[in-house]
Amino acid sequence: MSKYFHSVELDADRCCGCTNCLKRCPTEAIRVHNGKAKILTERCIDCGECIRICPHHAKNATATKPEEIENYKYTVAIPAPSLFGQFKNLDSIDIVLTGLKKVGFDDVFEVSRAAELVSEATRKLIKEDRLNKPIISSACPAVVRLIKIRFPELCNNVMPLFAPIEVAARIAKREAAEKTGLPREDIGVFFITPCPAKVTEIHSPNYTEKSACDGAIAISKIYPALTHAMDHLTEVEPLGNSGLMGIGWATSGGESAAMLGDKYLAADGIENVIRVLEELEDEHIRGVDFIELNACSGGCVGGVLNVENPYVAQARIQNLRKFLPVSLNHLEDGELERMLWENELTYDADIFRLDKDISKAMDMMSQMERIASGLPGLDCGSCGAPTCRALAEDIVRGKAKETDCIFKLKARIQNVYDQLSNI
Ligand code: SF4
Ligand code: SF4
Repeated sequence: MSKYFHSVELDADRCCGCTNCLKRCPTEAIRVHNGKAKILTERCIDCGECIRICPHHAKNATATKPEEIENYKYTVAIPAPSLFGQFKNLDSIDIVLTGLKKVGFDDVFEVSRAAELVSEATRKLIKEDRLNKPIISSACPAVVRLIKIRFPELCNNVMPLFAPIEVAARIAKREAAEKTGLPREDIGVFFITPCPAKVTEIHSPNYTEKSACDGAIAISKIYPALTHAMDHLTEVEPLGNSGLMGIGWATSGGESAAMLGDKYLAADGIENVIRVLEELEDEHIRGVDFIELNACSGGCVGGVLNVENPYVAQARIQNLRKFLPVSLNHLEDGELERMLWENELTYDADIFRLDKDISKAMDMMSQMERIASGLPGLDCGSCGAPTCRALAEDIVRGKAKETDCIFKLKARIQNVYDQLSNI
């Protein structure tokens, strides 16, 4: 079994090997061989780009099934703020929160509440000058994994604070245990998720050994039952406890705006994120304290497990925020220290290392350069690797051969033909 858990999976029966997904993958984690795609699990960051692009619906995200909440005596839903952008004509988040109780949860705790605490903690850490600047937000798990895999030198710039999901899950579980007297293992805390990267993060967290969250249910899976419940409410409970600052985290720029300063930068969409990280690595970005990066366009409203168009959801979120106070949640004594990461963010060097033996790895590297320089450099993808360089690497690793390149194959056939013609 792979040591890497992933929410994003391939449905091989649906895959026809069209290679559409090959070039979209930001970590070159896809190969297509024998007419089927394959995900290199050690490189996948669960960004969901391949789900978005596949015309044959051959890539899926696995998440917790809604019926799994029945395995617990008491359950708490912790909805992502992007959930509030999924419904037409919504004038209060209380309707969504009451609806979540109607579909089977015993209680709710908005992740936007925890987002306000994370924002306050970030402002405090910046003010106290306790972190390497510019600080990169740790809220988007696809971005954190991208940094681990492609930009290891930036690991020390990633904010060492739990993301709002983890903070919400820990507070929700503690409060539910105090309220019910039940042991923590009988209390199930479920994130209502807009993206597969968060499913993976809950299952295999970067920052701690075990997440306090017991599962992540896709917004798209709970949406039909939730809209039905919301349409049939006889009363709406006043459950909401977030300000506009926390709800704003649903869209790109929301987290930065909560810094209450002007030395920040916010980028969204995986290509833009990569461009910012490359410039940061080359030290071309200066005068910025905080960098917010979201792998999905528009921020979390753009996650592949949402149901609504991200721009429509964004407009709805802006509208909902108009009627809210700025912030309703503030740090208690000692809370910031409890939010600090328990594990350091480390680079998994084995992912790209050609060999453990350094001199062998150097030999393989020069072999790879030689092979790459003999390939056409068109990055056409017809060999099943995303670039000619990736094919050269696969050849050196013994996972592909030079004649997988159609130009090389054609040249080889021509050569044989010429030789036979001369006999
Ligand atoms: S886009 Fe990728 S996963 Fe989808 S059918 Fe084509 S090769 Fe297969
Ligand atoms: S989820 Fe993202 S990183 Fe993983 S295979 Fe798909 S495109 Fe690549």
